Amino acid sequence: MARSSTLPSPMACDQEDAKALQFIEDMTRNAKVVQQNVLTQILTRNAQTEYLKGFELNGATDRETFKSKIPMVTYEDLRPLIRRIADGDRSPILSTDPVSEFILSSGTSGGEPKLFPSIKEEEQRRMFLCTLVMPVMNLYVKGLAKGKGLYFMFSKSETETTGGLMARSTTTSLYKSDHFKNRPYNPYYIFTSPNEAIYCTDTFQSMYTQMLCGLYERELVNRVGMVFASGLLRVIRFLQLNWQQLTHDIRTGSLNPKLTDTSIRQYMTQIVRPDTNLADSIAQECAKDNWERIIARIWPNTKYLHVIVTGAMTQYIPTLDYYSGGLPIACTTYASSECFFGINLNPMCKPSEVSYTIMPNMAYFEFLPHESNSMRLTHSKLVDLVDVKIGEEYELVITTYTGLYRYQVGDILRVTGFHNTAPQFKFIRRKNMVLGIDTDKTDETELQAAIENASQLLREFNTSVVEYTSYADTTTIPGHYVIYWELLGKDSANSPSDKVLEQCCLAMEESLNSVYRRCRVADKSIGPLEIRIVKNETFEQLMDYAISRGASMNQYKAELVSKEKIILFYLLKMNDPELKIMKMINPSQCSYIAVAKEVDIGIDSWVRLRGYPEDNSATEIKKQAGEYVVKCLLNKFELRGGSTNSGISIKNSFDVLKTNVEAMHDQVDAPMESHAIGDKMGKWQDQIHEDSKGHGQ
Ligand code: AMP
Repeated sequence: MARSSTLPSPMACDQEDAKALQFIEDMTRNAKVVQQNVLTQILTRNAQTEYLKGFELNGATDRETFKSKIPMVTYEDLRPLIRRIADGDRSPILSTDPVSEFILSSGTSGGEPKLFPSIKEEEQRRMFLCTLVMPVMNLYVKGLAKGKGLYFMFSKSETETTGGLMARSTTTSLYKSDHFKNRPYNPYYIFTSPNEAIYCTDTFQSMYTQMLCGLYERELVNRVGMVFASGLLRVIRFLQLNWQQLTHDIRTGSLNPKLTDTSIRQYMTQIVRPDTNLADSIAQECAKDNWERIIARIWPNTKYLHVIVTGAMTQYIPTLDYYSGGLPIACTTYASSECFFGINLNPMCKPSEVSYTIMPNMAYFEFLPHESNSMRLTHSKLVDLVDVKIGEEYELVITTYTGLYRYQVGDILRVTGFHNTAPQFKFIRRKNMVLGIDTDKTDETELQAAIENASQLLREFNTSVVEYTSYADTTTIPGHYVIYWELLGKDSANSPSDKVLEQCCLAMEESLNSVYRRCRVADKSIGPLEIRIVKNETFEQLMDYAISRGASMNQYKAELVSKEKIILFYLLKMNDPELKIMKMINPSQCSYIAVAKEVDIGIDSWVRLRGYPEDNSATEIKKQAGEYVVKCLLNKFELRGGSTNSGISIKNSFDVLKTNVEAMHDQVDAPMESHAIGDKMGKWQDQIHEDSKGHGQ
């Protein structure tokens, strides 16, 4: 049975909102017809392109011919054509509309960002999808027109292709579009951030200015947002590092001399004014050691956070909850450089329940059935948008107005229900991605190549990397990659020194893709990569252990993703206290922030937010907190690939909780905090174990 969603009655909304909501209803009620029309339009318009002519559609625009003649493709298949366009070939290669710009993806190919040709009309389509968000939001949150949004928006530097077209990220393209620059007055699109700051590509100056403006207007701010959760946490970190200078500026009415951008300085002359009271009250909050609820304390009228916390961003939910005091998180849009897909029609739902309704007018959508148990995609027939089945997982395949035909996006989605006839999807994971902190998406091949490059440095010591695994450590801000290495040295008298291993860390970073390196160096949104050397035979024991817990040999070798191996590692470590991480190499130590210890945030703020007495004997608290902790763990270690179905069921497993306590003792830089957490957890764990027994093992 289809689980069908309905929008609340739009009684109180204004005319513009009513139009947008009606549009959503029309599109989703007629999804099948809309999809057929979209396909016809795309094929008619682009019939004379080199690409379509090559498949001899001969003018056919019906689904059956399209499906029988056009193959499914990946970026690699299109790369030579896209290269020609980038080099200046203006003939109609993929689309007959002139290419207006290239969109630079955070997905990479051959180490470099993928480039997608775009057309003017697509800009409008993307913007239009974005304008559907606030009318939906207004159905759930009242009074948003009375305040302003503190949205941190950043433009990245753009590059020019050989053929003279600009290449920029999706968000930069959106912010630089005429639609954004010349947006007509609309109370829901009033932001505290000035365009001068949004367009400044120096992250420090841009963030400082946006923060300063947000602080001056703190009483007006009624929502705080950024595209991704990782970015919003960096903003909080920025406030932590810069609040003294910011409040100095507010107190004195002067501007930090580090702001050298002339258009920012010019704009800010209208904003800065001495305001001792404001400076004092902000400084008072920031000077406290405890930064819990800092967002709500600095911007007291905030109704929700507007930020993506699905997919790779799930790992940041507990930390965001901590800083916001549990404010609702609105996760509204699902989009990519290739195409904007859909929106969340129930934006105030819990992050774990977020589903996106694909808007049938955005592109022609098909779905490749995906067997979640085997983590392999079956090459059976592609399914149309309206024919997907609830509970099933699919890889998204799109045909766009910009000239991508049956293109595999690489996202795995699960159908959760329908809004009218349009399906709603939970984002499950990105195919092949093993590591991600910010917008970086490192896949297995890239990680493998980086390890091979780094291990060259070990050759002169007759040492090689026998096996490795990795995970994204988000207990630091910014988060960083951790790679576990087991080494085989043939000459114990000549083993690589820590200095050499540090060089290996750098060599790995050098080899990773350009999006990683940009985040690491320019955006500083990723901290230094860390290598942890484990004792000999650790990985063998790990495999034995996995098999003893029900995994098959093949499954262990081919399918267990990094995070599962890390969890196994800690489980194994509990059984064998001798099993040690021998060395942790981290070229410039990441700064630990005690509050970023996710599980601690989980229990403490969970109990406090619900106003429970902090009395350990209250079984209900423990039971619910236990579930919460398990959820945090599942978020933190979210297994990208079949997780609970892949032989090693960790869901609701108390073992994982213990694992995490163990893991925290291993966090070297905050021993005081981590031991305190460990002790606290120790007190809880027996009771939680008992209580969790009855919860769907
Ligand atoms: P990019 O092409 O760099 O814009 O990255 C697009 C990719 O980011 C998508 O294909 C998804 O893998 C991921 N992504 C975008 N929006 C969301 C979302 N709301 N939830 C989870 N992942 C997302």
